[in-house]
Amino acid sequence: MEYIVKFIESIQRTPSAISYRFSRPAGFSFAPGQYMIVNLAEDLVHPLSLSDTPDQKGFIEFTKRMTSSAFCRKLQDLTAGDQIKVKGPIGRFTLDGADKSLVFLAGGIGITPIRSILRTLAARQDPPENTVLIYGNVNGADIAFRSDLEEISLPGYRVVHVLTDPEGVPGASQGFISSEVIGREAMDLKSATFMVSGPPVMVEAMKKNLAGLDIDGNRIRTDIFLGYED
Ligand SMILES: Cc1cc2nc3c(=O)[nH]c(=O)nc-3n(C[C@H](O)[C@H](O)[C@H](O)COP(=O)(O)OP(=O)(O)OC[C@H]3O[C@@H](n4cnc5c(N)ncnc54)[C@H](O)[C@@H]3O)c2cc1C
Repeated sequence: MEYIVKFIESIQRTPSAISYRFSRPAGFSFAPGQYMIVNLAEDLVHPLSLSDTPDQKGFIEFTKRMTSSAFCRKLQDLTAGDQIKVKGPIGRFTLDGADKSLVFLAGGIGITPIRSILRTLAARQDPPENTVLIYGNVNGADIAFRSDLEEISLPGYRVVHVLTDPEGVPGASQGFISSEVIGREAMDLKSATFMVSGPPVMVEAMKKNLAGLDIDGNRIRTDIFLGYED
């Protein structure tokens, strides 16, 4: 379905990530983890994940890692009431009712669909038995939605920060998300579902890590943010 939506406001999440909120079309619904095709103008069209939960009544939200692109310049020029086109929802990076144990692996801006999923899970009557988020970023300032994610309440839930520069983030691991980190932090390695979201290089690296831990491909769901090289 295609909709015309109106820009409401933007929220700076980190020095390089901004959320953009638009009016919510009547009757619109989506599954957490899905994305929309966001059309700002001819040739300025990108898929963006819905970063807040389906139960938000007044708005839909996307969160963009800002670059010097024409698409980002156009986003930054929006003023309240401006209209854009969005198409969707699309995507299968979503929950399956049978998931008992979930391990989320997020790389940078790849957190957007996972934030929507985690907040939705926290509101459910029958949450999974175990949920862990392993979240890779460059440094503490780059962690989008940090307090939201750390405040989520779910059985066995915790956030493991993995940072190139961990200064100022207590308990963070230094480096990249490795098979050692996954093996140490993931509960139920033998049965958990792994949901991986991030730029292509990150998702490829995680697939290798998971293969190294003998995790079968049918327990891995991926969301690949094409368009980023790092
Ligand atoms: C399913 C999905 C969900 C996404 N969700 C988010 C999100 O929530 N937040 C976010 O910041 N980004 C998300 N992205 C990435 C986003 O769509 C843009 O591709 C990316 O942000 C780069 O756009 P840009 O405006 O910064 O740079 P641009 O200069 O517009 O693009 C950078 C380069 O990548 C190429 N490129 C751009 N988009 C694509 C594409 N879809 N496929 C192949 N090549 C492409 C361009 O041709 C250009 O060479 C998502 C991508 C996908 C596929």
